[in-house]
Amino acid sequence: MTRNLDWSELKTILDDRRVSTGESVLHLHSHDESFHAPVLPDVVVWPHTTEEVSRLIRWAGQSKVPVIGWGAGTSLEGNPIPVQGGMVIDFNEMNHIIDVHPEDFQVDVQAGVIYKDLNKALARDGLFFPPDPGAAATIGGMIGNNASGIRSVRYGATKDYVMRLVVVLPSGDVIHVGNRARKSSSGYNLPALFTGSEGTLGLITEATLKLVGLPVNFMAVRATFPTILNATTTVYQIMRAGLAPSAMEFLDANVMHVLNADRGLSLDESPTLLMEFSGYSEQGLIEEMNFVEEICQQSSALSLDRGIGADQRARLWEIRHQTYESINRYHTGLSPLIMDVAVPLSRYSEMVEFSKKEVHDLTAYLFGHAGDGNIHVLVMDDTQDKKRWTRVEESSRNIVMKALEFEGTCTGEHGIGIGKNCFMETEHGESLALMKRLKALLDPDNLFNPGKFFL
Ligand SMILES: Cc1cc2nc3c(=O)[nH]c(=O)nc-3n(C[C@H](O)[C@H](O)[C@H](O)COP(=O)(O)OP(=O)(O)OC[C@H]3O[C@@H](n4cnc5c(N)ncnc54)[C@H](O)[C@@H]3O)c2cc1C
Repeated sequence: MTRNLDWSELKTILDDRRVSTGESVLHLHSHDESFHAPVLPDVVVWPHTTEEVSRLIRWAGQSKVPVIGWGAGTSLEGNPIPVQGGMVIDFNEMNHIIDVHPEDFQVDVQAGVIYKDLNKALARDGLFFPPDPGAAATIGGMIGNNASGIRSVRYGATKDYVMRLVVVLPSGDVIHVGNRARKSSSGYNLPALFTGSEGTLGLITEATLKLVGLPVNFMAVRATFPTILNATTTVYQIMRAGLAPSAMEFLDANVMHVLNADRGLSLDESPTLLMEFSGYSEQGLIEEMNFVEEICQQSSALSLDRGIGADQRARLWEIRHQTYESINRYHTGLSPLIMDVAVPLSRYSEMVEFSKKEVHDLTAYLFGHAGDGNIHVLVMDDTQDKKRWTRVEESSRNIVMKALEFEGTCTGEHGIGIGKNCFMETEHGESLALMKRLKALLDPDNLFNPGKFFL
C-alpha cells in the first residue's frame, strides 16, 4: 500500500542517513525467513535513542502510518512483515550494552543488541543470557517473539529473563515497566504483557535482563535409536528421572541424512537425540551420564557417543543450529513451511508419531527441542503449486489441531505473526476477547504491527 506522505518530514527527527525509501532497503525489510509473501514498507528508519523512537511514533500516530519494529528479520511466521506498509523502525543502530551488573547477574541493553554479541561480552564476567534461538536475533526481536532455543529445557524462555523494559507506547509515551529486584509481587506483570506481543502493543527500546553463571563442565551425548518412538520415549524417561539436561534435541533420520549431505558428515542416519549436561563437578556429570546411558539402553539405543570433546560439542550445536538452512539449501527452489507446536511432555511421543503420519506424503523433516515438548515439522514444497501447497497447509492445520487437543499450543517459540493467527480463537477461546480489548486500549488506531495476531 503506497501512501502519499512527505517522508522527508522524518528528516526533522533523524538525520538524512537514517531515513530511507530506497528500493533495496525497502526490499530487505519486506520479508522474514519464512515462506510468507513479502510486502514493502513505505519507509525505514534507524533511531539511536528512546526519545527519537517516541518522536517517530508520535509522527506516525498523527499521520496514521503503521509502525513495525524490526530486529534482524529472522522470524519464521511473518512476524515483522509490514503487511499494510508503513514505517519500519529498525533497531540495528540501538545496539549498545548499556551496563553490566555482574554482582546482580543483570545487564541493561538497547533493543538492537544481537544476543550472540551480548554473550561474547558477558563471557568475560563468567555470565550468559541463556535463551539461544540460533539465528542472529536481536534482544528486541527475542522479547517480541518470546524466543527460546536449545537451552530452554534447563533455563527457560526469554520471558524468564526480562526484568525491566523501556517501552514506547502507540501514543508516543515512554513507560518503564518492571524493576531490578529478583522477586516482586508488585502490580500487574507488565514486562510479561509486552514479552511475546510481537510489537503489537509497544516498542521496546531498552531491557534489563537476568543472567546466569556460565557452567564449568559440560558433557554432550549423541544417541541414536531404531525408531522415532524409542527416541521420544527416552526424552520422557530422562526428564522423569529428574535429570536436568541443558539441551535435549530430537532429529529424525531425514534430518540426519540432509546434515550429512550438506555438511559433509557421516553421522548415523537414524532418529537421534543430541543432549548436553552441565554442572560444577566432573564426577557428578560422569554419574549423571551413566544414568543417561542406562535409560538410553533400556530404550534400545543403537549407539551412544558420550566422549564428545569441547570442539566437537561446539560443532554439533552449530550444525543443529544450521538445520533449517541445511534443509533449505538441500531443496533449493522449494519453500519452507515450519510448524512449531508444543505439548505436555507426556504427549510428546504421540504428537511426534501423529505428525510423522500426517506428513507421510510430503517432503518433511522432524526435529525440535524435545525436552520442552516442542516439535518442528519442516515441509519443503512449491508455493506456486496450489494443490500441493493446499495439502501442506492442511497438514499444518491438522498438526496444530492435534497439539491443541493435547492441551498444547500452536507455537512453542516462533510466535503468531501471520502464519498462526487463524488458530488464536481455537487456542485462546474467550480470552482472545480480552487480548483484543487490551490491543484496542493501547493501540486504538491499530497502527502497531497491524494484521498480526488477530484475523
Ligand atoms: C535458522 C533459524 C533458526 C531459528 N531457531 C529458533 C529457535 O530455536 N527458537 C526460537 O525461538 N526462534 C527461532 N528462530 C526464529 C527467530 O530467530 C526468533 O523468533 C528471533 O527471536 C527473532 O529475532 P529478530 O531479531 O530477528 O526479530 P524480528 O524477526 O526482526 O522481529 C520479531 C518480532 O518482534 C517485533 N520486534 C522487533 N524488534 C522489536 C522491539 N524493539 N520492540 C518490540 N517488538 C519488536 C517485530 O515486529 C516482530 O513481530 C529461528 C530462525 C531461523 C532463521
